[in-house]
Amino acid sequence: MKNIVVLGSTGSIGKNTLEVARNLKDKFQIVGLSSNSRWELLAEQVEEFKPRYVALTDCGLVEKLKRRFQGNQLKILTGNNCLQEIVLKPEVDIVVSAVVGAVGLPAAIATIEQGKTLALANKESLVMAGHLVMSLAKKNQILPVDSEHSAIFQSLHSGKPREIKRVIITASGGPFCDYPADKLPEVKPAQALKHPTWQMGQKITIDSATLMNKALEIIEAKWLFGLTAEQIDVVIHPQSIIHSMVEFCDGSVIAQMGLPDMKVPIQYALTYPERSPLGVRWLDLPGIGSLTFKKPDVDKFPALRLGYQAVREGGTTGATLNAANEMAVQAFLNGQIRFTEIAVYVEKVINHHHFIKNPCLEEVLAADAWARQEMKKCLM
Ligand code: NAD
Ligand code: MG
Repeated sequence: MKNIVVLGSTGSIGKNTLEVARNLKDKFQIVGLSSNSRWELLAEQVEEFKPRYVALTDCGLVEKLKRRFQGNQLKILTGNNCLQEIVLKPEVDIVVSAVVGAVGLPAAIATIEQGKTLALANKESLVMAGHLVMSLAKKNQILPVDSEHSAIFQSLHSGKPREIKRVIITASGGPFCDYPADKLPEVKPAQALKHPTWQMGQKITIDSATLMNKALEIIEAKWLFGLTAEQIDVVIHPQSIIHSMVEFCDGSVIAQMGLPDMKVPIQYALTYPERSPLGVRWLDLPGIGSLTFKKPDVDKFPALRLGYQAVREGGTTGATLNAANEMAVQAFLNGQIRFTEIAVYVEKVINHHHFIKNPCLEEVLAADAWARQEMKKCLM
């Protein structure tokens, strides 16, 4: 029996994780759950999974939760450090990090430092400080939940690290893959929030529409698998059936495939190195008919180029890119900037930042804070 904490249990990945746990009750016990503000959904999850701990970041809502669970053994944590506090509880074996954004970084580091397994959906923590996180982690201590990285991780079992020629990360292309480039500036949030193949949280859905999600994913791949920019390719594959591939030195290309369903990579991260049955829909290739591929258009989606820049530069570029993007996505959703301005602002901020080659955690967090401040000034 393994004890799991789910950070961000009320989000898209969090809810899928609980569905996986519900079907593997003989293997996993939920000992901790967390949410930013959705306390009612969190309370329902507490009633079903009966964890020992719960973390609700928003202090203003914590009284409601306390009243609901009065006289219960449940320990309620709150405030800015509650994610770190919950992962540090001694009974925790596996932390599923399914929070969105930079808030995931300190908890990811705490999980690794304590020698616990990190099932990582929160790609932002690797984008910001992959060099720090990976230098602390032992082999296979971080198990990727992001579908592309899970696919690469699974495909890598077919060869040795030195035999890798490159990885090919697939991208659905998002809702604007075939949309005229000259109409992109007029795109409204409601259009950008309609993803063709995946059901996800708001921030990653916008990132998928700008291809910033792929930019974050190539940075994530660099750190997880120790790759150079030349070893990471991106290909548009609108059917989202091949989740990514690894090409080895003998020309063999190993792919991981399946219908798009995040429960597959989530469960694999939890049960690794084993597999367990999962009630998924089976792949019907004749029913799908054809799998298509094309090159991404970096002029239309310049975010992707910024991802490669961050892979090449390393240092504080990732943290700056991530923070500027978080702010820009929010500004787009609030109607303050145009869709196409997201990448423009992010580029401006990363190209003006004070670059540090090998930043410590404080310097990473300072770069993040600086970028947010800079974005605020741009938006005024
Ligand atoms: P979501 O918006 O649906 O859920 C986010 C969760 O994080 C919620 O539980 C929310 O309460 C919590 N949260 C938000 N802000 C917080 C804060 N300041 N402090 C503490 N908790 C906070 O997001 P999601 O789509 O589930 O994505 C979560 C992460 O997984 C992201 O990093 C995303 O890039 C990654 N990811 C998601 C998918 C997907 O299919 N949704 C796929 C691959 C990777
Ligand atoms: Mg992904």
